[in-house]
Amino acid sequence: MLGVFDIVRPKSVADASAIVAAGGGEAVFYAGGTELLILMKDRLLEPAVLVDLKAVPGLDGIGLDPGGRTLRIGALARHRQIERSPIVRHHVPTLAALEARVANVRVRHAGTIGGNLCFAEPHSDPATLLLALEATFTLESEAGARDVAAADFFVGFLQTARQPDELMTSTAFPLPDSGTTVAYERFKTHERPSASVAVLLSVRDGTIAAARIAVGSVGDRPVRMPAAEAALRGTPPGPESFAAAAEIVRDGVEPTEDRFESTDYKRHLAGTLTRRALERAMADGESHGR
Ligand SMILES: Cc1cc2nc3c(=O)[nH]c(=O)nc-3n(C[C@H](O)[C@H](O)[C@H](O)COP(=O)(O)OP(=O)(O)OC[C@H]3O[C@@H](n4cnc5c(N)ncnc54)[C@H](O)[C@@H]3O)c2cc1C
Repeated sequence: MLGVFDIVRPKSVADASAIVAAGGGEAVFYAGGTELLILMKDRLLEPAVLVDLKAVPGLDGIGLDPGGRTLRIGALARHRQIERSPIVRHHVPTLAALEARVANVRVRHAGTIGGNLCFAEPHSDPATLLLALEATFTLESEAGARDVAAADFFVGFLQTARQPDELMTSTAFPLPDSGTTVAYERFKTHERPSASVAVLLSVRDGTIAAARIAVGSVGDRPVRMPAAEAALRGTPPGPESFAAAAEIVRDGVEPTEDRFESTDYKRHLAGTLTRRALERAMADGESHGR
């Protein structure tokens, strides 16, 4: 059962941040509540004040930045909104498809992208893809605003580089160019993924010009796989190079123990999903005439 708490509804980012800063740990940001309220029901967290971010206008927009090469998603955008956004579907269909498979429709309808990222639960789907897309997260507080790269944001299990009074206002990433395909593969037998892999693949003149690989759900946070990316560069795409990259990922991940899968099994999944994601990216590139 929930304890006793107040809800305040600030009308600006500065006010929301100021309330949390003044709260001395007793006031926390509240978006969709899909993670927060579970912790509160289990009495793992007993904040005195919930600072409802849904009252702050303008934090749930989805659109291209001026110049049209960067997609920006407001932190209060709900999974369902992103899944259905015509802009996301057009420019990054892999993200729309990923969002359509997050949790269940009730969670997607209430849960926000900002809440997902700030909670830093290691089994986050969007975190893995946003890491591969080299997204940045905008954090704002009374002290000002800063952009933090996804690679620097996730620092451990449920831990981020965000200060308690910093509100995530948006995430943004450069749109992949026309020669780059994006793929995401995950394996799941229970509520959240057991392993997931996001890939960006650029092939020019029959050779891999660039590759990015991010692995999620396996360790305490999503990670890039630079050794596998380097091994792919300059090779012809195909079973041999994909198998070699998958092996590097399998050997390179640092799986954490949990009650669902063994660390060996997580390694196996990371390798297999890497190969599948590369194959899918390649097939999508070919179907678009690359
Ligand atoms: C049953 C279930 C299944 C799920 N399955 C999946 C899945 O398959 N894949 C997946 O990726 N996720 C999954 N999730 C996680 C889900 O995506 C998140 O619960 C949701 O996105 C969290 O957003 P929220 O708005 O509800 O956050 P809240 O619960 O409101 O907040 C979560 C945390 O983030 C902080 N916070 C929220 N917004 C901000 C902000 N803008 N700035 C700073 N701090 C903020 C809060 O203070 C709190 O600490 C699942 C969750 C549930 C309950």
